Amino acid sequence: MKKEFAVIGLGRFGGSICRTLAQEGMEVLAIDIDEERVNEFSNIVSKAVVADTTDEKVLKDLGIRNFDHVIVAIGDNIQASILTTLILKELGVQKITVKAQNDYHEKVLAKIGADHIVHPERDMGRRIANNMISTNVLDY
Ligand code: ATP
Repeated sequence: MKKEFAVIGLGRFGGSICRTLAQEGMEVLAIDIDEERVNEFSNIVSKAVVADTTDEKVLKDLGIRNFDHVIVAIGDNIQASILTTLILKELGVQKITVKAQNDYHEKVLAKIGADHIVHPERDMGRRIANNMISTNVLDY
């Protein structure tokens, strides 16, 4: 059976995740509070909805607990990111990946049980630096 993903927050990071998953043929539910952003994704993913994910009822009604993996890509609004993650956890979502804005945010996310926490800019910076080092070693 195909894996089902839900992506909350359709900024550059969440949007890129949505596009890649959809290109790979995955079932994707895209969610954002901003209607314009949701419209951008309506032809790309299986389903795109306008919703405020800090509202537990909204997430319940979307059947969020039945998704295999939920990605929380709300960046700037740390409060909304934490509350959304907490609700997902309480609803029993199997796997939750969250984008962290800073170390304090990460600490709280780990405490409430996010399964995987990513810092896209920091992680990519590390990867690129390591690539540069290994390229230099090879060049040498
Ligand atoms: P990126 O660094 O990925 O480009 P961004 O700056 O484009 O991020 P952010 O403001 O970090 O976007 O947030 C990502 C998305 O999360 C936005 O499109 C925003 O509308 C959405 N968002 C914020 N709060 C909520 C919420 N409570 N429920 C659903 N979506 C939300």
